[in-house]
This record gives sequence, C-alpha cells and structure tokens, in this order.
Amino acid sequence: MSFCEPIAGQPIKMKTTRICIVGGGTAGWMAANLFAARWSDKPIEILLLESPDVGIVGVGEGSTPTLKRFFQLLGIAESEWMSRCNATYKVNIKFTGWSPQSGIDQYSHPFISQIDTFSQRAFFVNCRTRRLGLATHTNPADFLINGVLAQQNKGPLTPENFPFRMEYGYHFDSYLLGEFLAQHAKKLGVIHQQALICGVEKHANGDIKHLVSKDAGNIAADWFVDCSGFSSLLMQQALGVKFKSYKDNLFNDAAVVMPTDISTNIPVETTATAIANGWCWKIPLTNRYGNGYVYSSDFIDSNQAEKEFRQHLNMSDSEQPCRHLKMKVGCLENHWQNNCIGLGLAQGFIEPLEATALHLVQICAEMFMDDFSDGHFSQQRQSQYNQKVTERFERVRDYIVAHYKLNTRNDSDYWRANRANTHISDSLSQLLDVWYRREDLEQEIARQNLESHFGTVSWHCLLAGYGAFPRLADKQPGTGDLYKEQNIQHFLQGCALNFNLHQQNLIPRLSP
Ligand SMILES: Cc1cc2nc3c(=O)[nH]c(=O)nc-3n(C[C@H](O)[C@H](O)[C@H](O)COP(=O)(O)OP(=O)(O)OC[C@H]3O[C@@H](n4cnc5c(N)ncnc54)[C@H](O)[C@@H]3O)c2cc1C
Repeated sequence: MSFCEPIAGQPIKMKTTRICIVGGGTAGWMAANLFAARWSDKPIEILLLESPDVGIVGVGEGSTPTLKRFFQLLGIAESEWMSRCNATYKVNIKFTGWSPQSGIDQYSHPFISQIDTFSQRAFFVNCRTRRLGLATHTNPADFLINGVLAQQNKGPLTPENFPFRMEYGYHFDSYLLGEFLAQHAKKLGVIHQQALICGVEKHANGDIKHLVSKDAGNIAADWFVDCSGFSSLLMQQALGVKFKSYKDNLFNDAAVVMPTDISTNIPVETTATAIANGWCWKIPLTNRYGNGYVYSSDFIDSNQAEKEFRQHLNMSDSEQPCRHLKMKVGCLENHWQNNCIGLGLAQGFIEPLEATALHLVQICAEMFMDDFSDGHFSQQRQSQYNQKVTERFERVRDYIVAHYKLNTRNDSDYWRANRANTHISDSLSQLLDVWYRREDLEQEIARQNLESHFGTVSWHCLLAGYGAFPRLADKQPGTGDLYKEQNIQHFLQGCALNFNLHQQNLIPRLSP
C-alpha cells in the first residue's frame, strides 16, 4: 500500500488509498486536517464518519504549545480561528493548594520559551543548592518568562524585533474548535459522512474490511483511524486490543463540569486548585470560564463531588446545572493494530491535569503520517510505533503521578492514599531518588531520554514548586547565593516590558 513509484517507460498508474476516520470529535478533525494537508498531492481519499446520535465528549479546553504548531502547519492564522472558538492565550498552569505542608501555597508550571535558556541554569543551580540545605530562591515563575507574564497577566505576543521565539498554548471552546476544524478539513477535500457504525467486518488476516452502518451501508477503506472516543469502537471492540488501565497509578475516574461568568481581566493561565477529594480546573475563554472538578469515585460519589465543586465555585445556591462525566484512564496496549490506529480518547487518556490529550493526538498522528509516507508497513515498524506511543503515554502519566505522590495535604483519605501509593514506575522512582539524593537531575533526565516528554525545566518546576526539599541546614548562606536571582528577575522583568499588551487587546477579532 505504498505510493506508486513511476516505472521507466510506463505511464504512472496511481491507486487511490482510502483512509476512513471514525469519529468527529477534536481528535478526528485534527487528524483529518493533518492528513489532508500533508497528503494534498497524493492519491489519498480521506473520509470522516461520525454519528450525531453519539455526540462528542465536549470537554478539553486547554492545550500545550503543540496546538500552536498544529495551526502553523495548516497555515491558519490566529486571527482566523481564535475569535471563532472564543479562544485565549495560555502561558502557564498555576497549581494552588497541592503542597500546604511545605509552606508553598501556589506555584507555576509555565511553558518553556527560547529565552529561558538564559535563566533556567540559575533556577537549576538554586534548586540544587536548596537541596543541599541552603536557603535559595526557587520559585519557578521568577525564572521563566511565561511565569513572569502570567503574574503580570500579559499575553505572549512580542514586537517584531523581539529576538526569541515564544512558546504558548491556548484555551478554547471544544465544540467551536470542532466546528472550525470540520469546516477547514472539508475545504481541504475531506469527505464528511454521518453514519452510526453498528458493526465491523474483517478480512481473514484480521484487517478491517468494512464498517457496517445502518444509514450508509457498508463503508470500506484501506486504512482506518479510530477516533470514536472512550468506546474505542474499532481498536478495542472490533480488533480486541487490550486496554491497560492506569487506575493503580492515577485514582481519578470522574469529573463534574460547569461554566461561570468570565472576569473583566482575562487571565493567561489555567488554574488547577487542589480541594478535598481531587482538583478543579479553571479555564478562561473570552466569554466564560470553563470549570471542572476531577475526582475519584472510590472516595466520593457524584453528589458529594457536585456539592464540593459548587462550594469551591461559590455556586452552592445556583440553579445552574452541572454535567457529570466518567473518565477511562489508561491506554491501549497497541496503538496500531492491523490496518487501524487509535487516536484521542479511543487510544487512551491520562487525566487532564497538564492538558496533554490533544498534544498526544497530534504527536501520534504525525508519527503515523511519517510511517505512512515511507510506506514500509513492516511488523518491525508497527512495533516501533507502538513502543514509541506507549512510552509517550507512560512518561506523561509519570509526570502527572508525581503531582499526587508528592502532595502534602492531610484533609482527606484521598490525598493520604495518593501520597502512600506505591504504584509508581521505575523511571519515576529513579527521578525522585536522584532529586532527594541531591544528585544531578538534568543528567538523570538525559540518561532516561525524557527531555521530549516533560523536560528538565518542567521537573524542576514541579519539585521546587512542591517545596520537595530536604530540611534546611542551620547555617545559611547569607548573601552568597550561587546566582543572584535578583539579576535574573530584573532581566526577565525587562523582557516583559516588551509584552505591553494585556490579553484582552491581543485576542484577534474577526475582520468585518
Ligand atoms: C474531564 C475531561 C477534561 C479534559 N480536559 C482536556 C484538556 O484540558 N486538554 C486536552 O487536550 N484534552 C482534554 N481532555 C481530553 C479531550 O476532551 C479529548 O482528547 C478530545 O475532546 C478529543 O476527544 P475525541 O475526539 O477522542 O472523542 P469524542 O469527542 O468523544 O468524539 C468521539 C466521536 O466518535 C463518534 N462515534 C462514537 N461512536 C460512534 C459510532 N458508533 N458511529 C459513528 N460515530 C461514532 C462520535 O459521534 C464523536 O464524533 C479532557 C477530557 C475529559 C474527560
């Protein structure tokens, strides 16, 4: 099924390859756009099927900077999509209340930008010094440009002469983003069909032959992409791929969500606040906040969750309804099976603490496109793909697990059980071991080849942000900090002067 190469003296005969994407949620439409853009000059037909009877999950409103790259790849300007999706800029996640015993009320995990190269070294050195027992300044937000911008509530757009590339993500309305991506994919030639899939027929070798639908008959294709959400219609149900649950590592399996009014000053960050039995997100859009409470049904039921959520939002007396969701946390044992790959919730989900789901959709779709363009569908390629994707999921999982393992809350069994949980991977144990033994974390991250998942700066933000340090020594260094953090702060504050517009002024408007 590779692309046809010309044979000397013969006219080129191209067989059209048909790829059928099942699912019109954000994952399905992202994949459709990426495929159509990459293969515009190839004999490839892309068909996307979805059923309005099933609908989309309708949450997932925060991204990583990978989404910026997604729009750049498609050549879509921010002014074209952001206002249509009520989108805002996101430079940071602010974690509040995760480690009260360390005396740190909140910390930041900013997206890392090019300019941070100058200050991150000072951050690492101060953290190491602090681990050695001397009092140094280790607040991540003061060392990283997006941390400074978040504190000043400034957007990440720079004047043209600013010499560094800024990294940032977005907050957006997931329904509107889906609509926008659907329109764009159709412009690129993607065929859209509404059909409820109720069966799958396979070839003798296990490949999917066609899908059976009530309304559109049998739908055949060469390749299938399962974007059917948590039901994992093709990968799990039809092909019998096993699902590896992360329940032992991550307890949360449910969420309750409700919008609230937006404030006058729209923040440039997501807030993740730990409360009695889980954590709440607060995501600013141009027209509302999206809020949600992620919790474990082993510790509280949905009524109790809604009560705690409403209290947290000061909405106990409000009639505004909440929406309850179940989450299946874990991932497929194989992400590519026969002539099918899984993407999005159909392939797996790690809870939304770092908003990594769409990031993984894009990374996996791109990896698959590389393999597909090469056209070498060997067993070896397939296993390599499966191994690489599993590794991605596991490393993201470990970073999230660390947030629970290191918590210092004492207000519920939920937090104590998370702290006491011994189901952590060897990779994470080794990282924590190196940190607490005061050794070189950067070296350990390089040794484990983790940089492309969550890198050294992110791990320092988390560990320093939690105040996960050994006790301070009696003898303090006085004025002798290895790096003068004040100099760093002056430097970053100086840079921040370039970002002189607030989010409200930055959000592109649709031209009339
Ligand atoms: C509580 C929560 C919070 C989240 N927060 C974030 C976040 O902040 N950032 C982030 O990146 N991600 C987040 N996510 C994940 C994000 O919501 C999803 O990754 C994203 O919406 C993509 O979903 P999807 O397209 O895989 O599935 P869905 O949106 O569920 O779409 C499934 C599609 O499959 C179709 N389908 C299903 N069955 C059939 C059938 N039988 N026949 C035909 N069609 C069918 C449906 O019609 C639908 O179009 C969150 C998820 C949850 C649960």
